[in-house]
Amino acid sequence: MVENETLFHKIVDGRIPSTKVYEDDYIYAFKDINPVAPFHCLIIPKIMSGLSGLDKATDDHEAILGKMMVAASKIAKEQNITNGFRTVINTGEDGGQTVSYIHMHMIAGKPLGWPPG
Ligand code: 5GP
Repeated sequence: MVENETLFHKIVDGRIPSTKVYEDDYIYAFKDINPVAPFHCLIIPKIMSGLSGLDKATDDHEAILGKMMVAASKIAKEQNITNGFRTVINTGEDGGQTVSYIHMHMIAGKPLGWPPG
């Protein structure tokens, strides 16, 4: 049992099913269950390493945060997303974060409004 286990711990180790979009040694990406656009996935590190949210990031997390960003670029190529996309990391209560395991939304497939509400 992992301390402060979340839904995404269960998704990353397969106890809760998800639709995989991308995986490598460090990163798992899967379709959001409630998509807000034709393409919507969540990109997470396979090991949370204390990153319940971006507000917990330290210098020790630079590599994994970089890998999350690079994964978005790889996913765009693999999924043939050629007209752009948006990446979002909601953090904390005001940021609208609902799962305490860092995750980056990747949203694409239609023009997206700005600014967010
Ligand atoms: P947050 O609001 O924390 O930034 O994003 C959490 C995301 O997790 C939401 O977009 C929500 O739709 C998604 N989500 C919640 N439960 C599940 C689930 O069981 N499976 C999947 N694939 N996504 C989920």
